[in-house]
Amino acid sequence: MQAKDCIVVINAGSSSIKFSLFEGDALDLALKGKIENLYQGQSRFSAVDATGAVVGERSWPEAPLDHAQAMAFLIGFAHSHLDGRKVVAIGHRIVHGGVDFSSPIRLDADALARLEQLVPLAPLHQPHNLAPVRAMMALAPEVVQVGCFDTAFHAQQPVLAQAFALPPEITERGVRRYGFHGLSYEYIAQRLPQADPRLANARVVAAHLGNGASMCAIDSGRSMASTMGFTAVDGLPMGTRCGAVDPGVVLYLMQELKMDAAAIQQLLYQQSGLLGVSGISSDMRTLEQSDAPRARLAIDLMVYRIGRELGSLAAALGGLDVLVFSGGIGENSAALRAAVCAQAQWLGVALDPELNRALPAGVVRISRADSKVAVWVVPANEEWMIARHTQAFTLASNQAKIRGLTLMPPS
Ligand code: ADP
Repeated sequence: MQAKDCIVVINAGSSSIKFSLFEGDALDLALKGKIENLYQGQSRFSAVDATGAVVGERSWPEAPLDHAQAMAFLIGFAHSHLDGRKVVAIGHRIVHGGVDFSSPIRLDADALARLEQLVPLAPLHQPHNLAPVRAMMALAPEVVQVGCFDTAFHAQQPVLAQAFALPPEITERGVRRYGFHGLSYEYIAQRLPQADPRLANARVVAAHLGNGASMCAIDSGRSMASTMGFTAVDGLPMGTRCGAVDPGVVLYLMQELKMDAAAIQQLLYQQSGLLGVSGISSDMRTLEQSDAPRARLAIDLMVYRIGRELGSLAAALGGLDVLVFSGGIGENSAALRAAVCAQAQWLGVALDPELNRALPAGVVRISRADSKVAVWVVPANEEWMIARHTQAFTLASNQAKIRGLTLMPPS
């Protein structure tokens, strides 16, 4: 890449689009921002540069924006803030790659059509991940768009970790465990050995705890098992998702409560988890500040489930060397980290309470020097991982193009 080449990363959800601009070979963050409140209330935009200085702010009091309008605004904003940089490609976070896509791909009309078929497997994410891709294709068809998948890091898991005990005719339809948050786990797997080279071959359980929450067993940098499965509703309780429930519960909801698929989807994805149990909020900060017994119960249930999954993932690894916290809750809630670590003492986890409370910035170890299991906090950075994949993909396809040209027989 030239010094002034840059990669734009788009991470789009149902009501927001986050964007980041990385420049140069080292992919230094130059700008980042977001448009929030799409489709609802007053859409708001803000952006900061690498120093944190605000470089753009705007709101739309008249009517909220949709994904296409938001992308049109972002293109205009980017153009006026490129400062001589050239956008080489746009990298998108796409939640589900299904069976077909386990590495970054060029997003064209054909790929988009295939990815749309996976919408039922990730109804809360996939349509919103794809909306900005479609908008960009219409607005600026010449721009290279690359899709990076949350499922990809898990694609090499052992066969047993991916299997449900279902008959082959169901499994062959792609009904298996995929795992998600893979871009976050891949980043953690790369960052840990940079922070401590002795961890290159460690057995790691990483917990990405944000609005979506999951855990992943990693051995020597390779994903071995994860708590999320066929969809991103499995595993831990999350902000509004229930996590693992007995499949018999779904049958009961259908047969006895006469709920249809849409109502069940709404219940499992949007009305459960921290929000459903507490009846107050999906936001961990609000629950931690509340005295309500149901708020306490919601947090206790999350901690309890993290502890159970930790035991299960440690079993999948045959032991545990490192526990990692990441995501908005994992990085910011000292109370949750302390509760999880207290529960995991049987595995040899000994937290340093002072380091945990006064957490320094960056990738930090927070366990006592004599802890058998090292505990680390790694701030999530899926955006950087997407930029790295997009950069590598673009370089590889440019090289292939050059090879193609030089290999062409003279006419
Ligand atoms: P997303 O999965 O949408 O990217 P985040 O990773 O930003 O979400 O995590 C959001 C969660 O992090 C929310 O539950 C929020 O309450 C929690 N969180 C953020 N800051 C704190 C804090 N200081 N203490 C406790 N929880 C926090």
